[in-house]
Amino acid sequence: MEYKELAEVYEALENTTKGLEKTKILAAFLDKIRSEPQVIYLLQGRIFADFDSRDLGISHQLVIRAISRACGVEDKEVVKYFKEKGELGKVAEKLIKEKKTQTALFSKKLKVSMVISNLRKISEIEGQGSVDLKVGLVVDLLHSGTPKEAKYIIRTVLGDLKVGVGNGILRDAIVEIVFAPKDLEEKKKYSVKVQEAYDKSTDFAEVFSKALSKTLESIKLTPGKPVKVMLFPKAKNVEDAFRIVGRPAAFEYKYDGFRVMINKNRFGSIKIFTRRLEEVTKQFPEIIDYVQENVKGETFILDSEAVGFDSKTGEYTDFQAVSQRIRRKHGIEVMMKTLPIEVAVFDIIYLDGKSLINTSFRERRKILEKIITPRDKKIVLAKQIITGDAKVVEKFYAEALADGQEGLMGKNLEAPYKPGARIGHAVKLKPEDKDFDLVITGAEWGTGKRTGWLTSFDVSCRGDSGELLDVGKVSTGLKELEGADLSYNEITKRLKKLEISEEGRKIKVRPKIVITVQYQDIQKSVNYSSGYALRFPRIIRLREDRSVEDIATVSEIRDEIGI
Ligand code: ATP
Repeated sequence: MEYKELAEVYEALENTTKGLEKTKILAAFLDKIRSEPQVIYLLQGRIFADFDSRDLGISHQLVIRAISRACGVEDKEVVKYFKEKGELGKVAEKLIKEKKTQTALFSKKLKVSMVISNLRKISEIEGQGSVDLKVGLVVDLLHSGTPKEAKYIIRTVLGDLKVGVGNGILRDAIVEIVFAPKDLEEKKKYSVKVQEAYDKSTDFAEVFSKALSKTLESIKLTPGKPVKVMLFPKAKNVEDAFRIVGRPAAFEYKYDGFRVMINKNRFGSIKIFTRRLEEVTKQFPEIIDYVQENVKGETFILDSEAVGFDSKTGEYTDFQAVSQRIRRKHGIEVMMKTLPIEVAVFDIIYLDGKSLINTSFRERRKILEKIITPRDKKIVLAKQIITGDAKVVEKFYAEALADGQEGLMGKNLEAPYKPGARIGHAVKLKPEDKDFDLVITGAEWGTGKRTGWLTSFDVSCRGDSGELLDVGKVSTGLKELEGADLSYNEITKRLKKLEISEEGRKIKVRPKIVITVQYQDIQKSVNYSSGYALRFPRIIRLREDRSVEDIATVSEIRDEIGI
């Protein structure tokens, strides 16, 4: 297939904000790629499946270099237009257009397969001279592309396609084109099927091709390949928890750590994934040892929380401590000593060649008890009681809080495990807090004592069809977190790497960094595209474990103020 066709679809998607229209456009395009399902990755703005965390490692500086080389102009000129247009995709489009009259560019038609292959090569290049090789591969693509194609190539390279295709829309498009549902009920039924398949495989190309061959059921959990974790709604109080999960129910400590899925595959190798499907095996060598020594089973997938504790007092520390370990690629031995962790295992979804997702939680817990030998401060089973008595739960809740944990999880004893779904098979019970997880989309340089650092951050939530909508600026809270992993210095470094444009003292960044923002109030506001503004916002956490897919939605914000 020619890349031109894909570029036209991107453009059509970009030109509408309506979810239904996007679904239609996508469905029509999926019809054309029945025999090349991998093109779906490009529709997602990716080059690999979601479970594959390889990336291109190309900064916007390198893209500037690639554009200047492809067009035979100086970097300075590219930067000048970058400031004007605010986005490198459009700069490439403009400069390539101008070049078109001077040179015989686009001698051959650009094929989708070449885009995938060049970009994949980029992700594999390492070591000396890698920068030049990477730039060269982007230049090749720009040479073969039309101006419009160049725009989308650059956006793909930068990981910011700006066409607003979320997982929900892609799922609906697959349903539409493969199953052509007759009515709403059928549509719902197939959406659930496709979603379930996706949550197990986290690979839309596989889901699409299996849907086409009517073999969605053949998508199975595979230890070693990350799955989407089950998510939990909130309960207002203990009675509400019983109402949702049934009575009696299991109640467990809600550990304040970092969720990790521990996989052991049939070759005996253990891999650890976050809920964002990122592999963090290297960061936690001790987990491998704890699991090897204390968990029986040839193959398994465990759902668990890695909780930090103070090596001197043994007391649990909060989430930030573990969060620091997730990012560390070096000095791991030292970190293991200064920021030790305990793994609290709370679920199992696969054991010795068999999926357990349709097994009841009661049984799954029994299996965990059988295969795990608990070792204090190494690997334990989530502390649990089973009761129908609210008073007993209240007491357990108080104990959890006194023990430095966040609260309790209430769990339905008969429920299956639903990867990716936030349904009431379990609920969280924690003291009321007013906060949202939001993504940083822009930032402003500080002044005075804070010159040289980005100190104020534009934050966004997700709109109804997955687009990003801003809800305010936040500049307080960071100072208090200094010393944990979130300093001005650190966040400035990370945001600079994500920069996509600059205007005066402000920059715009790729939406990658998710933070928890506490607020006192929400107001309606015409200043922000969400229609709401958070009053007195404060950063309380860097959410290393969240991706832009997980942030708060505008409906959640709307619900909060009841309008
Ligand atoms: P989300 O609901 O999307 O996970 P959130 O930040 O609102 O986002 P939390 O309030 O952290 O969620 O509650 C759910 C998380 O609690 C789980 O994702 C898991 O990491 C953690 N957790 C700790 N202890 C347990 C437990 N015993 N059972 C299940 N989850 C637990």
